[in-house]
Amino acid sequence: MDSAEHEALCRRCGMSCHFAVPVNGLAVVIDALRCKFLARSSGSGSDAVAGQYHCTIYADRFAQAPWCHTADSALAAGFLAQDCPYAKGTPGYRGKVRLSASLYQKVLPAIRAEIARVGVPIGAAVEPVLALLTESGGKWSHSVSADGSRYLFVRSDAETPNPETRVRPVSLRVL
Ligand code: SF4
Repeated sequence: MDSAEHEALCRRCGMSCHFAVPVNGLAVVIDALRCKFLARSSGSGSDAVAGQYHCTIYADRFAQAPWCHTADSALAAGFLAQDCPYAKGTPGYRGKVRLSASLYQKVLPAIRAEIARVGVPIGAAVEPVLALLTESGGKWSHSVSADGSRYLFVRSDAETPNPETRVRPVSLRVL
């Protein structure tokens, strides 16, 4: 398979460019937790398909986004979608998944709480994460951790923490 054929296997689902939250042993992808360089097409361009994802720095991604992976290293680390074409034929592969809408709503408070507790990787787009936290109430702000590896979040408007952020599920961890 040549390079063009290999690239063409990608279906532009964006799963590998989202960070995952482990939920009950599954690597769960949520819309709000994605690479800051990932964009989604509106379908207005000549060869654009609405809803498909693309990298805005693709040619230079390994220099600008040290968290990025090749398809091979993403496969080895379990960072591809469970049903990714690049993982086809890999015995026992366990990759990223999305939850059904109803299940997502059930675990969302715990996901918010875990994000508020441990932050997110520095490669994530911070605005969608702030929006996710703000949806449950309050004003949130962010900072960069001392080692520069994560965005950390704090609710800045309330003396009493949001009830959701008091949830401390041990089964969730933001990668
Ligand atoms: S830098 Fe890497 S992880 Fe980020 S959008 Fe581009 S290909 Fe995806």
